[in-house]
Amino acid sequence: MIQIAIDGPGGAGKSTVAKALAAKLGIDYVDTGALYRTIGYYVRSQNVDPKNAEAVEKLLPSIDIELKYENGTQIVSLNGENLGDRIRTPEMSMYASAVSAIPAVRSFLLETQRSIARKNSVIMDGRDIGTVILPDADVKIFLTASNECRAKRRYDELAAKGIQTTYEEVLADMNARDEADSTRDVAPCVPAPDAVTFDNSWMTPEECTEGLVRLIEEKTGKKN
Ligand code: C5P
Repeated sequence: MIQIAIDGPGGAGKSTVAKALAAKLGIDYVDTGALYRTIGYYVRSQNVDPKNAEAVEKLLPSIDIELKYENGTQIVSLNGENLGDRIRTPEMSMYASAVSAIPAVRSFLLETQRSIARKNSVIMDGRDIGTVILPDADVKIFLTASNECRAKRRYDELAAKGIQTTYEEVLADMNARDEADSTRDVAPCVPAPDAVTFDNSWMTPEECTEGLVRLIEEKTGKKN
């Protein structure tokens, strides 16, 4: 069993690289941001302010989130329904960020995340995987890139999905989300003391994956 934690801000390429590494290493990829997005989606559907901790907490007992895998792809379902790309909009990014600052939401999702890593070898991406969720992970990576590179990547991703926005809007949202995620009281997005920080601003996804494969080999002493 192996546990690999990849944390870092949005648009650093965590999911692209983590998926490639999971396929290379033959282990499961867990995208924890999808869990916060799903809660954000439910809160929105109930017309509740995502910053109102008390109101959000009251909704938690009516939320059943399930994580499963179909042909190696992670599916997150909310009360039995697969939300697909509905959780991937810029609005849902902001809802996810707002609800993720609420301690009750983080405790609600803690066991879901830990139990997957107990049963399977995983590479898990998020904001607090190395610091809170898997403090004993075999390898901890803090993946980052310059704000401009990250915003450009996120913009291209949204454009490819046909979501209308501008680079400036994406950059402003990203800066707001980074600020909120890294300065919140609970589980802020910061590198664990034993994490390796990896800046991939000028790397292709392939170069980044190669670099991380070498890092994982060094840390685990295995040839994968
Ligand atoms: O990674 P992704 O952009 O999908 O995450 C959406 C939001 O969920 C982040 O901005 C962050 O606020 C929150 N999140 C978190 N902890 C995680 C994963 C995501 O707080 N482990």
